Amino acid sequence: MSNRDAAYKVVRRLRKEGYEALFAGGCVRDRLLGRCAHDYDVVTDAVPEQVTKCFKRTLQIGAQFGVVMVLTEGKQVEVATFRTEGGYQDGRHPGHVEFASAVEDASRRDFTVNGMFFDPIEKKVLDFVEGQNDLEKRILRTIGDPDERFSEDYLRMLRAVRFAVKLDFTIEPQTWTSIQKHAGKITGISAERIAAELEQILTHPGRALGVQLLIDSGLAAAVFESYQGQAAAFGISVLEYLPKAVDFPLALAAFWAGFETKAVLAECRKLKLSNDHLKHVRFLLEKRNVLLDAEMPISKLKLLLHEPYFWDLLTFQTAIQNAKNASTDTLETIQQRAEAMPEEAIRPKPLLNGHELIALGAAAGPMVGQLAQEMYIAQLEGQLKNKQAAEQWCQNWLEKHKSC
Ligand code: ATP
Ligand code: MG
Repeated sequence: MSNRDAAYKVVRRLRKEGYEALFAGGCVRDRLLGRCAHDYDVVTDAVPEQVTKCFKRTLQIGAQFGVVMVLTEGKQVEVATFRTEGGYQDGRHPGHVEFASAVEDASRRDFTVNGMFFDPIEKKVLDFVEGQNDLEKRILRTIGDPDERFSEDYLRMLRAVRFAVKLDFTIEPQTWTSIQKHAGKITGISAERIAAELEQILTHPGRALGVQLLIDSGLAAAVFESYQGQAAAFGISVLEYLPKAVDFPLALAAFWAGFETKAVLAECRKLKLSNDHLKHVRFLLEKRNVLLDAEMPISKLKLLLHEPYFWDLLTFQTAIQNAKNASTDTLETIQQRAEAMPEEAIRPKPLLNGHELIALGAAAGPMVGQLAQEMYIAQLEGQLKNKQAAEQWCQNWLEKHKSC
């Protein structure tokens, strides 16, 4: 059963109990655009307690905000009671929610194209905010006065850029002017919410346009003070040359391609990225230009291939070269060499282990580590074919190091 079928079933059940129930928000917009919607949100006039009584399995995750998760056919359908949100004091959290009518629920939503409902039984769109009009014109416009709507929740400014990119819509002039006016206030929003929007913008194929909008609106410089000028412009060019589908850390490295690694890591830490993402971004930025060495020893290439992010590095460097209008010949050679290498040649088991090196006379401690590393490089270079050869090589090494 699809997400839509599950949501349809939930609507039918609520209607059977005498409640109003409709699809809302993004799924209505996407359906009208002929796009595939992933989440189907249901809205209803039933309050959470009543919703819970209609279904066998529910989760009370946000009942105080009027949201109940219905579990059906292995799917989760979010069912929200029509509500208004009010009392925004800090430009990010509604002070209270009140159950309300469908019209009021539509007007608390951010953009007209996100404010429509769909009745899947009558197959009718319910549009109280002129969303269909803007959808036809491919315009993103706040519902009501943009200054007021952004002041309620400044994250909506980043959401505007996200939807402009995702839908390939133009931001309506008054909405745009208002974003430029309030951009500085994005700093009041939590790092996690900012990072989640940035991830959606940067992982979308329209990411270069998205970053241009972030710069032009003043949002980029508000979030990352240093993100301006030539260095930022270079980031946009690198983003333009990434393949369509890339993950967040690679896109983020491209975004920062014009900046020093250390400064970038400080900015990324502010975003509270996960350690995995930080490690990934760091690797890509630190290893910039390493793959441009046409004479790279085979052992070095193999050690790079041990890294989980090797192929991202190749993609990243290729985008950098293209952005600079520089040759990618070396990268193509490296790619061919890497692709031709069998796994056992890339990561062979070391011919000798630590105990064996100590038995040969290496002192326990840093010496074993160094010997093991150098022997492994010789092995990766193809100089050592078997254990005896490795032992001989290590004995020579130990001789040399004793005499030093
Ligand atoms: P996507 O397909 O990218 O998930 P979406 O429209 O479903 O797009 P969500 O962030 O999942 O976007 O939000 C669902 C709906 O809830 C929106 O369409 C909008 O009507 C409303 N909404 C979400 N966040 C806000 C907000 N900060 N302010 C006002 N309305 C919001
Ligand atoms: Mg959604």
